[in-house]
Amino acid sequence: MMARPLSIAIVGAGMGGLATAASLRRIGMEVRVYEQAAQFARIGAGIQIGCNAMKVLRELGLGPRLRANSFYPRSWNNRDWRTGEVKFDMIFGEHAEKKFGAPYLLAHRGDLHAALASTVPDESIRLDHKLVGLDETADGARLSFANGETATADAVIGADGVHSQVRQILYGASPVNFTGRIAYRTTYPAALLDGQKIGDCTKWWGEDRHVVIYYVKPDRSEVYFVTSQPEPAFRIESWSAKGDVRELRGAFEGFHPEVTKVLAACPDVHKWAIVDRDALPRWTERNVTLLGDACHPMTPYMAQGAAMAIEDAAVLSRCLEGVDRDGVANAFRRFEATRRARTTRVQDTSRTNTMAQGQDRCRLGLWL
Ligand SMILES: Cc1cc2nc3c(=O)[nH]c(=O)nc-3n(C[C@H](O)[C@H](O)[C@H](O)COP(=O)(O)OP(=O)(O)OC[C@H]3O[C@@H](n4cnc5c(N)ncnc54)[C@H](O)[C@@H]3O)c2cc1C
Repeated sequence: MMARPLSIAIVGAGMGGLATAASLRRIGMEVRVYEQAAQFARIGAGIQIGCNAMKVLRELGLGPRLRANSFYPRSWNNRDWRTGEVKFDMIFGEHAEKKFGAPYLLAHRGDLHAALASTVPDESIRLDHKLVGLDETADGARLSFANGETATADAVIGADGVHSQVRQILYGASPVNFTGRIAYRTTYPAALLDGQKIGDCTKWWGEDRHVVIYYVKPDRSEVYFVTSQPEPAFRIESWSAKGDVRELRGAFEGFHPEVTKVLAACPDVHKWAIVDRDALPRWTERNVTLLGDACHPMTPYMAQGAAMAIEDAAVLSRCLEGVDRDGVANAFRRFEATRRARTTRVQDTSRTNTMAQGQDRCRLGLWL
């Protein structure tokens, strides 16, 4: 008798959840993704797609789409906030692509999300399903949602991000360390720059703050920036919280005219408290595991949070390949054991990538 295929519930249709759904479907697994949002929104944020993430995305068939919709920068340039002096310029392009085996792309977060969503059929994604309960049953797990619905599955993957409900159910509240810094960020049409030329991708180093500015479209039609600066009293960690553009401009007064013009042209801005959390001691309980920000959230200073979630998806699908219900718990343990050292290293590197260290590295020409 043919064994029935494993049924897998993924909680969260973000970067990691969709990449996992796509990876598992490629190995013939039945997945259902439960997402709290009623619809997907194109959030105003850019995202650096590192070569490591691109290697996974290429396997999911997204290479051409991402190249066609993202910006391929000539370099990662580091400049002095006031004088504009180039401190260090890390050249990308064909040579780097050959060396690292994939391109380094700059994208709109919404475009990367839409690309991932295109790999999962609509009927496999249940929107407006906010997980509120998770119970073990004799033959798997029972999920309960805020809309009153329930579902069962042989295995559950909590890909529900930094405020993970699955993590909360498994392990309770985890400590939150606000770094005392915030990030303003937005994307907007480059036409608003009124002909002002800007670099492909530049990190502007101030004394206690920085701003990174880059294009997110191949034709340079859309621009993104993200800042990092002290503001200990602000404690909202959310993609939707808004900031005040006048306060933002005031915080970067005296910066090079290229920066002030980008901030002056910006119509609207989001604001995010930068939070650091410790790695969880465990990610897996029997037939339930976590991935991405749910288990290894990190500060954005290595631009690797989504890349780590996408790598998780690839490794988890390898661990689950050919596994039946009785093998899930072992597969999840193998996944955690395989990923822990690497994600912890990236988390730690991101944590220590502070202004002071960054400036030193930059001076020495070591800055990434
Ligand atoms: C300012 C900033 C810049 C960044 N830049 C980069 C970058 O350049 N490159 C990079 O690789 N990373 C970057 N990151 C990190 C990256 O955004 C995250 O690491 C990544 O989104 C994590 O993916 P995830 O799938 O774990 O979580 P998310 O993408 O956050 O997805 C979680 C999903 O779960 C859903 N959800 C939450 N709770 C529930 C629930 N109870 N029930 C159902 N659904 C639920 C959410 O709605 C969401 O759709 C940045 C982060 C910040 C803050």
